[in-house]
Amino acid sequence: MNCVLCGGGVEKKVVDEEIKVFNDHFLLKMETEVCKNCGERYYAEGQIDELIHLKKRLEKEKTGCHEVGKVYQMSS
Ligand SMILES: [Zn+2]
Repeated sequence: MNCVLCGGGVEKKVVDEEIKVFNDHFLLKMETEVCKNCGERYYAEGQIDELIHLKKRLEKEKTGCHEVGKVYQMSS
């Protein structure tokens, strides 16, 4: 398979998928197809559903994760 955006080669890779819940960011290791040229990600069937499901759960309770850093907003 080639990237539909740039035609570059696509490879299976484990990426840190980011889920934003209000002001918090959650990173989830996920194996997905990534374009070697532009970085576009191609999700397998069901992966988007999984992310949506996880986001809904994290809105209610933050379980199964630990803090790895903080997000700061620069004052303007
Ligand atoms: Zn591409």
